Amino acid sequence: MQPQWILACDIDDTLTGDRVALDQLTQQLTQLRQQGQLFLILPTARAVPDVVSGFEDEGLPVPDAISTQVGTEIYLPPFDGDLTPLPAWERHLRRNFSRQEAMSFLEGIDGLVMQSDKYNTQFKVSCFLDKTPDPDAAADLIQQRVDDANAGDTYRVIWSSTRFLDIVPTEAGKGNAIKFVVDHFDLASRPVYVAGDSGNDRTMFDEFGQGIVVGNAQPELKRLKNESPGPDIYFAQNCCAAAVLEGLRHFGLLN
Ligand SMILES: [Mg+2]
Repeated sequence: MQPQWILACDIDDTLTGDRVALDQLTQQLTQLRQQGQLFLILPTARAVPDVVSGFEDEGLPVPDAISTQVGTEIYLPPFDGDLTPLPAWERHLRRNFSRQEAMSFLEGIDGLVMQSDKYNTQFKVSCFLDKTPDPDAAADLIQQRVDDANAGDTYRVIWSSTRFLDIVPTEAGKGNAIKFVVDHFDLASRPVYVAGDSGNDRTMFDEFGQGIVVGNAQPELKRLKNESPGPDIYFAQNCCAAAVLEGLRHFGLLN
């Protein structure tokens, strides 16, 4: 039996932040997966070991697929041993992305700090902008440089939480990674619901147009309320996993 619906749920500050609610959500999602009704994807900015350790340490639900590093890597079960990203997705991203060129868009920005090597991977250049004099202006400048170079077909700039800036291949991002997984499992006819809290979740809402913005979301995601005020995006009152529970009940997906 094919799953009836798909949930793509960000981890940090969407699932995490309220352990009691997360335990309740995990229990319900796990049951739905075991009944074959739900296909669960966890798209995240984390690296994969920090997702896998979270199953036990943080009570995260075990999913059917994980997309890490802001949609630049995809992992399928089993989630143990040596985890290798899905080669088909890496091939899809390989076209023109150059770390060197991506780095050139960051040059000379006062106060910019590169993130650790763990988050600077083959297909992702990541820095912090919160020590720059005006983080939003710095993010705009980086986007402007990409636009001025006519490089938007190759580089996607993702700005989250007035702190994290990522440059990834335009084909990447959480929304595209989820779509790839959905097509990979031949689930394109099933409805996809997404849930998130920050700018790096935006591509999921743009791709699928249906989901939950948690009550503790960052301003750049809450802005969706003005840009896409439709019934298919639910702005929860609650925060974190309690918001996901609230939203899934709103859509009639949970009791
Ligand atoms: Mg998050």
